[in-house]
Amino acid sequence: MVNIPVTLSTDLKKKPTIEEEGSLGFGKRFSDHMFIMEWYDGEWHNPRIEPYHRLSIDPSSSVLHYAQEIFEGLKAYRTGDGRIVMFRPDANSERLNNSAKRMCMPTIDVDFNVEAMRKLVEIEKDWVPHSDGTSLYLRPTMFANDEALGVHAAKNYVYFVICSPSGAYYKEGLKPIRIRVEDKYVRAVRGGTGFAKTGGNYACSILAGDIAAKEGFAQVLWLDGEHLKYVQEVGAMNMMFIVNGKLLTADLKDTVLPGVTRRSILALAREKGLEVEERDISIDELIAYAESGELQEAFGTGTAAVVSPVGELCYRDKHMVIGGGEIGKLTMDFYNTLTGIQWGRIPDTHGWVKEVCKA
Ligand SMILES: *Cc1c(COP(=O)(O)O)cnc(C)c1O
Repeated sequence: MVNIPVTLSTDLKKKPTIEEEGSLGFGKRFSDHMFIMEWYDGEWHNPRIEPYHRLSIDPSSSVLHYAQEIFEGLKAYRTGDGRIVMFRPDANSERLNNSAKRMCMPTIDVDFNVEAMRKLVEIEKDWVPHSDGTSLYLRPTMFANDEALGVHAAKNYVYFVICSPSGAYYKEGLKPIRIRVEDKYVRAVRGGTGFAKTGGNYACSILAGDIAAKEGFAQVLWLDGEHLKYVQEVGAMNMMFIVNGKLLTADLKDTVLPGVTRRSILALAREKGLEVEERDISIDELIAYAESGELQEAFGTGTAAVVSPVGELCYRDKHMVIGGGEIGKLTMDFYNTLTGIQWGRIPDTHGWVKEVCKA
């Protein structure tokens, strides 16, 4: 394992107090240190942890023009039994590499990347907030940094990991959200980059998100780019539907982001003996289930919210209220089980939780 040298900050920031943890929100504050390394001459150089700082890039930097950029999102938690842990950092590191391959970017050895994140979180352990439901969010990011114009794979890259203390996603308990099914704009197309966590996918999603927000919706549900017919996923969450006691979700084609939370929930569902169908689900099929009362629950899955109950789906003039707008039983079960494993309240029988250090 490559040694990762550390330069500690001599100018530590004020950490949020317990009272301030209630208003942390998401992604607004950053800790004292970051991991960073550069790629040139065909390999990674100088991996190190140093004080959090601004980056200086040339106006011609390739990422600014051609968006060769990928990122990840995962969390570190403080457990009740006095440990700091990360949830499935190996899965995020593998996905980063899959995104990298699609975007013609260099990959990073998975064990090395996990160790880089572990060491960073260990140094920042006092930044992992204490209150219920809070966590330290990690944002690994890689971008192309050739100082030249021209569309081709760059030869220079920067990879960094920053940490952001994040508040409880649900301060007043889980709340079902309203979702607008988008019937004009699309997020991903066959053969495109939908399965990669790359900035461009989000840039092109902002307009539909804005329209939905103006109409009072929390999220957009994307349909497939070819037929505008099959349900894909929402902004940064995969979607699951409970229909007649079965769990339905879009199968992973190259248009759907393979969520680590999705994968974890499907594993839990299969263990429970729930029937799982990963397949094409058309919006018409969903509407029919909603109208016949067979659509019992719907929820999104993603690192930020873990599980987000959906109370209403709106497609054109059809308003589908799900489970009377209340949180479904399985939705609640999945939330409690997965967050229980993450915060160390429920034994981790899957090897998902990686210990960073003692708190
Ligand atoms: C990150 C993301 C998800 C959820 O992935 P997790 O690994 O569960 O956080 C789902 N869809 C999109 C588009 C995403 O960017």
